[in-house]
Amino acid sequence: MRAFSFLGLVTALVLTVFAAGELRAQGMGGGDPGRRGYTYGLSPEEIAPGVYVFWGAQEPMTPENGANIVNTGFIVGDESVLAIDTGPTRLYGEEMLATIAKVTDKPVRMAVVTHHHFDHAFGMSVFKKANIPTMMHFGARPLLLRDGSGVLQFMEILVGANWVSRIEVDRPTRVTNRVETFDLGNRKVVVTPFENGHTPGDLVIYDEKTKTLFAGDLAFVGRTPTIPHADIPTWLDQIDIIEAMPWDRLVPGHGPLVTDRAQLTPMADYLRYLDDYVKRAVANGETLADSLDPPPPERFRDLAEIGVEYQRALLKLFRDVERQELDTTVR
Ligand SMILES: [Zn+2]
Repeated sequence: MRAFSFLGLVTALVLTVFAAGELRAQGMGGGDPGRRGYTYGLSPEEIAPGVYVFWGAQEPMTPENGANIVNTGFIVGDESVLAIDTGPTRLYGEEMLATIAKVTDKPVRMAVVTHHHFDHAFGMSVFKKANIPTMMHFGARPLLLRDGSGVLQFMEILVGANWVSRIEVDRPTRVTNRVETFDLGNRKVVVTPFENGHTPGDLVIYDEKTKTLFAGDLAFVGRTPTIPHADIPTWLDQIDIIEAMPWDRLVPGHGPLVTDRAQLTPMADYLRYLDDYVKRAVANGETLADSLDPPPPERFRDLAEIGVEYQRALLKLFRDVERQELDTTVR
């Protein structure tokens, strides 16, 4: 009985959250980025010799930022270049490639897409059209193809049609589920797969020469981790593994450069809190509405996007619990 009323409540809350997003977008004037026009003004920072990052904004996606809320980058060897992620739109992917070409005349050998989330993956077709192979984790491909068009519609509502024009959600040219090493010419780069942490399929990219790790969304710094496809206990284990890797600097999917492992503590603390909070609430017979009522603890309130992401997280975690309950009932 409880499961049914629960489901109704969840549906109502999801609709409420979605409607709020829609209203917010309508209030923003239909996708006009202002005088800058539909360009991102991408400018890479060389964080270590031959290692470049395009830093994204710690903001929600808006018509002003064109959904550029993500960190991407590239690594330049003596012979070729490896790109990391492709950004949220076709326009971003095109600008990224053009900007790389201004830094180096070496060819881009491959784009490694850390996972299927739109802000990392929706620029992918640009690379494919330029005959640059794209690689994802094998667990990421089906999710990209399943969720891609729905997410595209949602993006259009939030940032406007001009930014998302002619995005093609397409399969990567390669998938992998093992450790792979690429030699860019006197420079070895190691790609390592992780399963069912942040998403079913994440890849991290390590430059041996400068001990730089691109961790994708397995690392969020200063921004609330998003968990719609996450398994939190597994993700926490993976954060431990990433902390133990031999990097001197780490580029998170969102947030500033990490040079001290302690910078990863707040995200792990937040994820552990969420997991404990929902488990405890369910054990005490509390409803989703009871749990949404108090704001998140003081120590998380400075994280970017905490308001929206905290609600989304509780909705998702309660839905997971409900699904498990239904499964056990049916069995
Ligand atoms: Zn993500």
